[in-house]
Amino acid sequence: MAAALPVLLRAARLQRSVSRSSNRPLVRAALASCQGAARTRSLAAGVSVSPAASASCVAQRRCCATEAFRPACTDLTEDEEMLRDSAAKFAQEVLLPRVLEMDKAGAMHKEVVAALFEQGLMGIEVPEEYGGSGLGFTAACLAVEEVAKIDPAVAVLMDIQNTLLVTAFNRYGSPEQKQKYLTRLAKDTVCSFCLSEPGAGSDAFALRTRAVKDGDDWVIDGGKSWISNSVEAGLFLVFATVDPTKGHKGITAFIVGRENPGLKIGKKEDKLGIRASSTCELVFDGCRVSGDCVLGEVGLGYKMAISLLNEGRIGIGAQMVGLAQGSFDYALRYMVTRKQFGTAVSDFQGMQFQYARAAMEIEAARVLVYNAARLKESGKPYITEAAMAKLKASEVAQSVSSQCIDWLGGVGFTKEFLAEKYYRDSKIGTIYEGTSNIQLLTIAKSIQQAYKA
Ligand SMILES: Cc1cc2nc3c(=O)[nH]c(=O)nc-3n(C[C@H](O)[C@H](O)[C@H](O)COP(=O)(O)OP(=O)(O)OC[C@H]3O[C@@H](n4cnc5c(N)ncnc54)[C@H](O)[C@@H]3O)c2cc1C
Repeated sequence: MAAALPVLLRAARLQRSVSRSSNRPLVRAALASCQGAARTRSLAAGVSVSPAASASCVAQRRCCATEAFRPACTDLTEDEEMLRDSAAKFAQEVLLPRVLEMDKAGAMHKEVVAALFEQGLMGIEVPEEYGGSGLGFTAACLAVEEVAKIDPAVAVLMDIQNTLLVTAFNRYGSPEQKQKYLTRLAKDTVCSFCLSEPGAGSDAFALRTRAVKDGDDWVIDGGKSWISNSVEAGLFLVFATVDPTKGHKGITAFIVGRENPGLKIGKKEDKLGIRASSTCELVFDGCRVSGDCVLGEVGLGYKMAISLLNEGRIGIGAQMVGLAQGSFDYALRYMVTRKQFGTAVSDFQGMQFQYARAAMEIEAARVLVYNAARLKESGKPYITEAAMAKLKASEVAQSVSSQCIDWLGGVGFTKEFLAEKYYRDSKIGTIYEGTSNIQLLTIAKSIQQAYKA
């Protein structure tokens, strides 16, 4: 397999810093030549150029340059391209040979999880000082997309780790918690995000799991449902209320280790799709954790969960774009070789119109996802865009993967081919991290605010 991502990134950054310093004189020369040209133009017009005017001209040009050449959201940085390519290579080499077997068994191979860590794909936004790749949110989404092209079940494991848990520890962790947990998240420990309960799904903050203070410790009792990655996880971020009378202001996030005797991993769900991704119930029975296991502050859990899910759903959008593209690539490769009436089925105009439209839909979803990711990364408002991105991408994933089965004909309906797996996997996109109705509510709320203001 290729060299691990952190190694590649370090080498590329070193190379760039060398070439940047050797390029500096060229930049200065270009600016000087622009200043010279301005002087020549002014002299020709019979005006003298003061140093101040010349400096302001340079400043303006710099400003114009950044305004005029603002890159498209699909333009990637060198680091992002490198990450995307190494995630794609990983998916081809490690996941493709195992995808059908893992789906059939409903379990993820241990070596797949180990390889995700080895390749630096589990701590993409973990700062380098804690052993991570030190990249941004868009980069994490790109990696999720590439992995989802081959296996959306593996993609959700790394998506939750990167876009929910790493973000949670990066943003809300104390320096000691970052040192203790981010290093593990980047190196070898899967973490689960535990919010949903049997009675608290879309209305997640109706949760009833309770945490009671006992000296310096907290004791957690209750249960969670639908918790992804709980078979593989070594850590669980658990949302519980410290005071039900306070409503959402009582909700607090606790870090619970798998070895805690008060935590039991319950029933594993037998699912329609993303079968290799584990989804289990959790039972907390006198689960005692120390005071330093509160992430953020007591009572901050609601705010944290809302904010994490708002950005996490961009990652699910990326998963769905990858799924749609993966099923499309899979079907097209078949269609160009499958002959009927003496010609490749991809040559029939009836088919061309369908796959041209599907390609356009995938690109539309991708642009929504990348745009939301870039907005989030640059600190601009992104909540509506994130909801739109997830909603659109999950709808596109369902419609494209459904059409791909049609395009393959009979073989698309069999379990020997991946097309039916993509279709089954696509169904989850409209459910987790906020159902489609919840995304529509978010979008409608922002529209109402704009028109009522
Ligand atoms: C495979 C899988 C993995 C998951 N992983 C995790 C995880 O790791 N961590 C975690 O905490 N949770 C996880 N979940 C839970 C997931 O987030 C919830 O299933 C989801 O939020 C929906 O909740 P629910 O299933 O209770 O559906 P409900 O909330 O009961 O919704 C049922 C239907 O009612 C609609 N509905 C509900 N409220 C409204 C409303 N106000 N307006 C209009 N329509 C509405 C919904 O859109 C839906 O169609 C996972 C779920 C699945 C299936």
